[in-house]
Amino acid sequence: MSSALMQTYARLPVTFSHGQGVYLYDTAGRRYLDAIAGIAVNGLGHAHPAVTAAIREQADKLVHTSNLYRIEAQEQLATALCQVAGMDGCFFGNSGAEANEAAIKLARLYGHQRNIDKPAIVVLEGAFHGRTLATLSATGNRKIQAGFEPLVSGFIRAPRNDIEALQHIAANNPGVVAVLAEPIQGESGVHPLDAGYLRALREICDRHHWLLMLDEVQTGNGRTGHYFAYQGIGIAPDVVTTAKGLGNGVPIGACLARGSAAQVLGAGQHGSTYGGNPLVCATALAVVNTITGSDLCANATAMGQLLREELEAGAAAAQIAGIRGKGLMLGLQLQRDIPDLAQRALDAGLLINLPAGNIIRLLPPLIISADETRELAATLSRVIAAAA
Ligand SMILES: *Cc1c(COP(=O)(O)O)cnc(C)c1O
Repeated sequence: MSSALMQTYARLPVTFSHGQGVYLYDTAGRRYLDAIAGIAVNGLGHAHPAVTAAIREQADKLVHTSNLYRIEAQEQLATALCQVAGMDGCFFGNSGAEANEAAIKLARLYGHQRNIDKPAIVVLEGAFHGRTLATLSATGNRKIQAGFEPLVSGFIRAPRNDIEALQHIAANNPGVVAVLAEPIQGESGVHPLDAGYLRALREICDRHHWLLMLDEVQTGNGRTGHYFAYQGIGIAPDVVTTAKGLGNGVPIGACLARGSAAQVLGAGQHGSTYGGNPLVCATALAVVNTITGSDLCANATAMGQLLREELEAGAAAAQIAGIRGKGLMLGLQLQRDIPDLAQRALDAGLLINLPAGNIIRLLPPLIISADETRELAATLSRVIAAAA
């Protein structure tokens, strides 16, 4: 590996040259079924014609102008996203962490506007919100924080799915202004919040005038079978952040807000030089239109169900302790650690990821077909069974 790169990643020894649909091809021409999709980014798979056409057409016209001027594609994307999300205002950055930074700044400003000197945000154990200083401070994983102290203050940690703990926090912390949570925690190993807990969160936020802020960086854009996961629960957050699947590979993040929360950030209070530039917004608009104009959300639900059934009936059933998640965001808890499983899968032509210990995370493209889903399940079952 190039020593000119800082050694921040543990990479598998493979380099891809191109992709098509759910498949990637390495530089030697070998084919792999991509069950991780660039970490929930390539929802439409690789080389999707609508995405390619949007990039080509926009690159031909205009790539960047800055936010000193109006940007047509950014306005169109904001309208489309607000419509599908049930939100009223949108801010664009370039990543998930930046989307969450915008939400954190919005919540703090909301607090100060209500004369709360030291606004605090409730965050959950096991959360992942990004790698910037504020978002790693919000993250519930010591490994990600260690060495980067002093952390950003103003976060209160609560256990997952524990309504009483939240009521206790509410009773003892008058400075709380918001809750920030992932509907399904991805990086901690695919841990869904209970629907009842999410509804209780909405009630507690209403009662105390807290903002309910959902981090849908990973769960958004059709991944769980709804455009946003909260739509499958039947609640509306005040703020929602998204990124990953929004650009299908071009760097974009969005922070959306509803009602008065959409009015909190004013002129000069937040910004990004190329956040929401013409190229990424034209591309993301093609992504949003493709997902909303098709049955891809329903496909995510159906293929997720098929994938579960095939894995539960497959050769590795005895090794699987449980399957968590929703739609095409699944976590397989194995009975025990299997060393080098990602490498073994790679050798078998399958790309998977293990975010924590003995948990396999599957995030295949939303466009996956039933045959490809069966191929995924069969290959993975074979790899686990052979290694166990
Ligand atoms: C990936 C992720 C982030 C961070 O996104 P980046 O684009 O890597 O900054 C934040 N929150 C969640 C839930 C994520 O999955």
